[in-house]
Amino acid sequence: MPTYGRLPIALSHGRGLRVWDTEGREYLDALSGIAVNTLGHAHPRLVAALQDQVGKLIHTSNYYLVPLQEQLAAKLVALSGLTNVFFCNSGLEANEGALKIARKYGHDVLGLAEPQTLVFEGAFHGRSLATLSATANPKVQAGFAPLVPGFVRAPLNDLAAVEALLDANPNVSAIFLETIQGEGGINPARVEFLQGLRRVCDARKLLLMLDEVQCGIGRTGKWFAHQWAGIQPDVMPLAKGLGSGVPVGAIVCGPKASGVLTAGNHGTTFGGNPLAMRAGVETLATMEADGLVAHAGRMGDRLMAALRAGLQGVPGFVEVRGQGLMIGIELARPCGVLLQRGVDAGLLFSVTADRVVRLLPALVATEAEVDEIAARLLPLIMAFLAEPQA
Ligand SMILES: *Cc1c(COP(=O)(O)O)cnc(C)c1O
Repeated sequence: MPTYGRLPIALSHGRGLRVWDTEGREYLDALSGIAVNTLGHAHPRLVAALQDQVGKLIHTSNYYLVPLQEQLAAKLVALSGLTNVFFCNSGLEANEGALKIARKYGHDVLGLAEPQTLVFEGAFHGRSLATLSATANPKVQAGFAPLVPGFVRAPLNDLAAVEALLDANPNVSAIFLETIQGEGGINPARVEFLQGLRRVCDARKLLLMLDEVQCGIGRTGKWFAHQWAGIQPDVMPLAKGLGSGVPVGAIVCGPKASGVLTAGNHGTTFGGNPLAMRAGVETLATMEADGLVAHAGRMGDRLMAALRAGLQGVPGFVEVRGQGLMIGIELARPCGVLLQRGVDAGLLFSVTADRVVRLLPALVATEAEVDEIAARLLPLIMAFLAEPQA
């Protein structure tokens, strides 16, 4: 189906941050399959583990105990300080489950007849009917009315507006946001805002649900982006980077939320299968063994500094923002044409929210590779900004 606008290259194999197309051309991958390939391409430790697992068991269903689920859940619980995990296959699925938890918590715990979820401007939560309804982008919603009801929307980083909306909407049972908005243009929820939301949720007995599908799993220089604010969510959907390329999603819950779904309330055929769990276990173990979380923070600082130094004062450059290896470069005008120019220059990245060049390199990026990303990207942006506007 014609659902994607694709660049005209086909990638055949990769190693670390390098990928090669079917014509033998080499690229530096600064996108990682949209924040998915945490360990880069063909990481030897992950490859060996997956080969071993494929030869043992790929899938069994959730009719039986799956010890690798226990193992990955224990690791996610230890890293997050939360208590329980449900495994699924993708980001929207994790978010869909979180929204079900918000509704059922509203009914069971708060006694609400029609619980609502507070969501934010600029949000992206996925493309199922519920998650696209929670999303703020009209392009994602166009053509799919009627949307799923039960959402109230607030501006990001405006605690007073959130409190006013909650006062006006006593049916809200949960506040749901990306700790750092990804598709919306790399817009971080500020530390004080996150801390304020935590206080508001505690005071009003609401669930704080942080979508860390893109910003979680070490990318920002902490295991989870909300750890920069020193708070904990009640519900945290994860996916993208968790399996380093193998589809796996998770809903990680704290004590307020972990008992809401009970037997028969929720399920998935593929979720938590041994292959996906092995990918998750091995991804986290490799990150830990190689110190990749702190490394991502250092590489991100280095890359952002290089980008800021190169673009400082250039007309049409707005700002570089992000945390760790989740970086947006905002320009003053739409810059989708840069994608093909990147391909021509041997550099893969994305453009989101029309005007934001987005970089999400693998966490294994070296200093030399980070410098090379900046060296290939800066001339493209400067040439673009120097062109007369159409
Ligand atoms: C990518 C993304 C999703 C959707 O994940 P899929 O795996 O594509 O369904 C949801 N939330 C955020 C923050 C994302 O970046």
